Parts: sequence; C-alpha cells; structure tokens
Amino acid sequence: MTQPSHLGRAHPKPHPHALARAGRRELSTAPATGMRFYLTTHKRHWVRLTDKPLFLKSEHFVNAVKLDQAQGPYAVDSGGFSELQRKGRWTRTPRQYVDDLRRIWECVGPYDWAAQQDWMCEDLIIHGGTVGTQHFVGTHLSVAEHQQRTVANFLELRSLAPELRIIPVLQGRDVPDYERCLELYEKAGVDLRREPTVELGSVCRLQSTRKGADIVAAMATHGLKLHGFGFKTLGLEKVGHLLASADSAAWSYHARRRPPIAGHTHKNCANCLPYALNWRTRVLGTLAVSHQPPQDGGGA
Ligand SMILES: [Zn+2]
Repeated sequence: MTQPSHLGRAHPKPHPHALARAGRRELSTAPATGMRFYLTTHKRHWVRLTDKPLFLKSEHFVNAVKLDQAQGPYAVDSGGFSELQRKGRWTRTPRQYVDDLRRIWECVGPYDWAAQQDWMCEDLIIHGGTVGTQHFVGTHLSVAEHQQRTVANFLELRSLAPELRIIPVLQGRDVPDYERCLELYEKAGVDLRREPTVELGSVCRLQSTRKGADIVAAMATHGLKLHGFGFKTLGLEKVGHLLASADSAAWSYHARRRPPIAGHTHKNCANCLPYALNWRTRVLGTLAVSHQPPQDGGGA
C-alpha cells in the first residue's frame, strides 16, 4: 500500500472544460440527472479529505484501529463480491456485520446507507473459475438459491438493526430473474418502492450491454430508487438517468493506464484522490450534457 505524499496539499485544478460543464456548485449529485455519484475507494482516510460522496467496503473500516470522521456523504459496501469470490459463502455472520456497521456509524458518522450481505449471481461467483489472476471458488448454488439467501439475509439484518439503514439488493441474471427477486421481497412483506434505496446487484459486468440496460430499465419502471453497483462510464451514459445513485471504481482503472497528474511523483494516480475527484467532475459533466435536465437543473 503506497501512501500518496501529496494528499495534504492543495488539489491540482480540475480540467477547465469539465468545470465549466459541471458548474461550479456541483456538490454531491449530477446536475442533470440528480444522481448521487460515489467514488469507490479502499482508502478509508479519504472520508476526512473530501466532501464528495465515497463508497467503501465495511472491511476497510473494520480493520482500522482508529477511524476518521467523514466530512461528506458516504455509503458502505458489505464486500460480498470478494467474500463469495474467495470463500464461496458468507463467513461474517449478520450479527458481526451489524456490530461492524454500528461501530462505523458511531466513529465515522452517519452513512447514507449500507448494503446488505447479498449473494451476487455472476457466472464466476456461482460456478467458480479463474480470470487472469483472479480465482473464484464458486458457490455451486442456483440463482434461485442466491436470491432466497439474499432476501433472507435482508430480513435478518433489518430485524437485528432496523436503525442502521441497511438496504436491500436485487439479484438475478436477466429481467425475469430480477422480477422474481422483487416478488420474493414482496412475499416477505418488504415493499421495495418504499425503500429509500434499492441496490441493483450483478449488473456491473452487463451495464453497458443491451441486457444490462434492459434490467435497469425494467426495475426502474417499478418506481424503485435504484443504486447501480460498480458502474463504469459507458453504463452510466446509457442508464445513469434511471438511477438514483451509483458507485464507480472506474477512475482507478482509468488512472492506471495513464501518466500521473503533472507534479505527482507516483507511477500513476490509481490510488490518488485528486485524480479521482477530477475524473468524477469530468464524468458528471459528460452526463449533464448527455441527458436533458428533468424539472430544475439541480441548482446552479
Ligand atoms: Zn496522483
């Protein structure tokens, strides 16, 4: 883990075009779409360095001896993808997770929401396999079983800690799957339309495809306030206007393939807050241009 040496200093200027397009008052949301856009990071101390929305895995807080207070909005990911990738099941019990969240809430400050411990439905997560250096052990369960377990976990977490803003996740592989998952919640007495945020799981690999766009569109017609998990620029351009919020780590991949910002001494800016903030402003600016403002322009 390299610690960027420049974090305490003034941020380099964002790209002038990006600033002009996004508007000087761009705070937490995309001006045209009203979408809250979280930067995904594993650097938990960023919460004290920026007032822009951040998305962090609970484990990155849990492992810390000292926690910093957040200066801006943030949301918590349960870290299901790496948990199921490595172990093929949840080893952290709902009770432990609730304890984690309570400590985060008390030390870092009230978060927007925390994701439940869901069971994502990607092929690799279910069947296992290796892609590049990434190995997946596989759960070897059915999509239906993943959905059942997801709903059951949400019910358990909600009953353990209704005050902790734990949000439900919809899981599936195609539109009929997601519709079924919605029904499962309904049968369990959870009206997702009344939830302040519903996460759309397992679409990260599909988001820029027709199938991914169909899933987002189908779920949006139910009037859900959707959070798009792990979105990339292309996916946001296609369906960002249907999402209430989204998180993205794409800035880091973007940075890895490019030289660092002028004056930065590290090899690239893949772990660099100024780079992430510049990228975010640029993406929000692009979205503002590609979508018509709904009623008011989001304040400027
Ligand atoms: Zn940098």
